[in-house]
Amino acid sequence: MSEPIGTCRGISVVYGSGSARVEALAGIDLDLDDGEQLALLGRSGSGKTTLLHILGGLVVPSAGDVTWLGEPLSSLDAEARGKARARGIGYVFQGANLFPHLSAWENLAFAARATAEARPDVTPADPDRLLALVGLAAKRDALPAELSGGEAQRVAIARALAQTPRLLLCDEPTGHLDSDTGERVLDLIDALHREFGFALVTATHDPNVAARASRTVELLDGKIADRVSEVPA
Ligand code: ADP
Ligand code: MG
Repeated sequence: MSEPIGTCRGISVVYGSGSARVEALAGIDLDLDDGEQLALLGRSGSGKTTLLHILGGLVVPSAGDVTWLGEPLSSLDAEARGKARARGIGYVFQGANLFPHLSAWENLAFAARATAEARPDVTPADPDRLLALVGLAAKRDALPAELSGGEAQRVAIARALAQTPRLLLCDEPTGHLDSDTGERVLDLIDALHREFGFALVTATHDPNVAARASRTVELLDGKIADRVSEVPA
């Protein structure tokens, strides 16, 4: 068994204080294996987004340790955490979160450039190739406002690929899409996962979306529920 690429040990996240105190995560232990496809399943408010933020080094836990490729993400300062994150963590947010004033191509180029700076060892991604891969070569010069929801989400996926991820974190990637478009976006993510071999973590409240993964971890009120499924690959 090879080393996990990411680990969480005893992770708790508390927001607010006094009567506004919310414990979003309470004692999470989790290992991520290289190349695996993991679903984080749970109702709204169960802590899925917070856990993705923790795995991605966007949020520092109130307690516990997170590592990424052996580095202790949780004890780095913000700048060092940004650099560690740039070493291979791609993020697809619930809404596409594209830069509104940049074209599809420019959104990808921006991510590719930041990645090339952080990882001189990696061949810089070609935005045109990635747009073609998600079927949007014709939209290279379109601004986000000129794209449909499904197209914007495919650009967001291509942008995450421009980071040459070893880990792709997807937060309810079909949350804002109709069911047919959502299915196509999920098929695309699955195909890219098979082609590129990054580890894939998808947060979802939808058991049908989770069923695509080889492992499901269910969150319940900030804790990992006992019911955990594992489908042999
Ligand atoms: P999910 O993604 O499963 O819906 P979240 O991680 O977004 O869950 O939220 C978990 C809990 O933490 C919820 O009770 C939510 O209201 C709370 N929460 C999330 N973000 C914040 C924040 N920035 N400030 C205060 N409470 C928050
Ligand atoms: Mg969420």
